[in-house]
Amino acid sequence: MYEYGLGVKILWVPGHAGVEGNEKADSLAKLKAKNVYDDQQLGEHKLSLSGAIQLSKKLAVKPWQRYWERCEGAVHTKQLLPYVTTKVLLLADRKTGVMYCRLLLGDTMLNEDCFRCGFTTSPICECGSDRESIEHFLLFCPKYSEQRNKLYNTISDLWFSSYLSGALDVSVGLLLGPGWDHRIARKDDEKLKLALFDFIANTRRNF
Ligand SMILES: [Zn+2]
Repeated sequence: MYEYGLGVKILWVPGHAGVEGNEKADSLAKLKAKNVYDDQQLGEHKLSLSGAIQLSKKLAVKPWQRYWERCEGAVHTKQLLPYVTTKVLLLADRKTGVMYCRLLLGDTMLNEDCFRCGFTTSPICECGSDRESIEHFLLFCPKYSEQRNKLYNTISDLWFSSYLSGALDVSVGLLLGPGWDHRIARKDDEKLKLALFDFIANTRRNF
């Protein structure tokens, strides 16, 4: 328009309020959209391939995320993996990987879960101090104190080497949830998960 010597000024005008130019632009936009939809006219080709991939990802993830938030059940997993796009670190060691997935799903072969499903006669851990829950296995069972000390030492090293202040709260969430504590850098969280995988393997508890 500048080339034709016309000045351009951008102004807000109310939509659908009988403003002549705006009504015309609106009906032209609708007509174009209808023609593209009916295959009578080609749409704009300004969307790059990477832009199209990003857009399709966005369109796919949104309803998936909504479904994840609204579906019933999976409370334990939803807490650990609130976003459907969260990347879960897995190992080449399939056995440990399967056990980690079971811990994320809250459906393991530990005594508490087995008892609930009718596979064992008692939910109590072999150590006799409590039910063998995920929390007991990861945080408290005295049978795995040695392995746990090693795990906690790695976590403390990561915490202090990152100059993080405040109390370090070792919880089921921190151990299992990817990126659970936002203060911990992603690469350090991966190291934490690798230390957890070592812990699981070293306990030699198959679940
Ligand atoms: Zn125990």
